[in-house]
Amino acid sequence: MPTAEASSPHIVTPTLPAGGRGLDELRAHDPELADILLGEAQRQASCLQLIAGENFTSPAVLTALGSPLANKYAEGYPGHRHHAGCELVDLAERLAVERATRLFGAAHANVQPYSGSSAVLAAYAALLVPGDTVLAMSLAHGGHLTHGSESNFSGRWFRIAGYGVTRGETFEEGGLIDYEQLRDLAHRHRPKAIVCGGIAYPRHIDYAAFREIADDVGAYLIVDAAHTLGLVAGGAAPNPVPYADVVCATTHKTLRGPRGGLVLCGADLAQRIDRAVFPFSQGGPHMHAVAAKAAALAEAARPEFALYAHQVVANARTLAGALAAQGVRIATGGTDTHLIAADVSALGVTGMRARGLCAAAGIVLDKYTLPYDTEPCTAGSGIRLGTASVTTQGMREEQMPQVADLIVRALREERGLAGEVAELVEAFPPYPG
Ligand SMILES: *Cc1c(COP(=O)(O)O)cnc(C)c1O
Repeated sequence: MPTAEASSPHIVTPTLPAGGRGLDELRAHDPELADILLGEAQRQASCLQLIAGENFTSPAVLTALGSPLANKYAEGYPGHRHHAGCELVDLAERLAVERATRLFGAAHANVQPYSGSSAVLAAYAALLVPGDTVLAMSLAHGGHLTHGSESNFSGRWFRIAGYGVTRGETFEEGGLIDYEQLRDLAHRHRPKAIVCGGIAYPRHIDYAAFREIADDVGAYLIVDAAHTLGLVAGGAAPNPVPYADVVCATTHKTLRGPRGGLVLCGADLAQRIDRAVFPFSQGGPHMHAVAAKAAALAEAARPEFALYAHQVVANARTLAGALAAQGVRIATGGTDTHLIAADVSALGVTGMRARGLCAAAGIVLDKYTLPYDTEPCTAGSGIRLGTASVTTQGMREEQMPQVADLIVRALREERGLAGEVAELVEAFPPYPG
């Protein structure tokens, strides 16, 4: 068989990725790119990964993502495609849909959204027309860009009313959704849809309260469970499906699947949701990602995943407690999820400075502008972090005090921490073997 080198240096013989083989082959043909990919794999395995929306997806998911399904055009839905040759990808999509509906108890699932943002766009497009009023968590209090930012389709095409979180007597007592304010705003604005779910809300959301308020004013309820869907799958967070008209989510955060989105809804809205995804807002689905979602959903249905989801929360609680013990103020005084939002101003740094100091130590987390923040949003007073990645790596409550200690020492501008961070992290390889 002719090798790529023998025929032409520019023609790469396609090979299936099997373990690291794909990367090794890439190194022979494109060392410049291979170095970047291998360097990133090394960075992920040697730094402390605390970005709240990230995770380490499984080898099965990576294999599906690197499979020849990436080559296939499949505009439409299983059985009704605009292209020939879709028999096998149809099976993959049906599998993903069946697994999603079974896992979350939904009548219908659409697994085609390219991302969480595309899932929200589809939900808005299915239920609303431009000019309709939407009541969503305000961006300054932790709402997502797609819920109503002026720089996004949502804020451009819809009238947005924003609800917030409580101020609280103390920082730790505040930060909770103000359901009374929500009810007042719903009655005042009479929105066509109410949206809940945010980027940094660490507590369980009272979906029954949202449903009741939505019913009071005749609004649809859209739950954006982008962050928490994996915790729901593992039984570590309440399931929004029985309460919401539409649930949108990502598949790559706590669910630990490929980058992508997912929409769940009742049978009544199934056709509207499907049309809002394709042809309204997307073209051909990424069938390799759809197959990878099927792989992730199968993994998320296993008993090990329930243990994982509960461990994620136990780790976050322990980490929040350990940070609080060292003077970091934790929003809402703790967490019910993977997510911690914290005020670092007592340590004399802004969120932006904290992010930089941590990065220099190999600790990767985000800055966060807190509700009622007094710093400009470019700096922020807060940090936002999550335990989904470190838990996938196998860290337990036992390791969390050390993680907190490393973060606080980095914030106190102690230098030379990277070695200590790498030593901890490298004991928990994300892809052992
Ligand atoms: C992450 C997130 C999204 C967007 O997901 P992308 O895949 O980045 O487009 C939407 N909503 C919320 C609440 C999120 O946290």
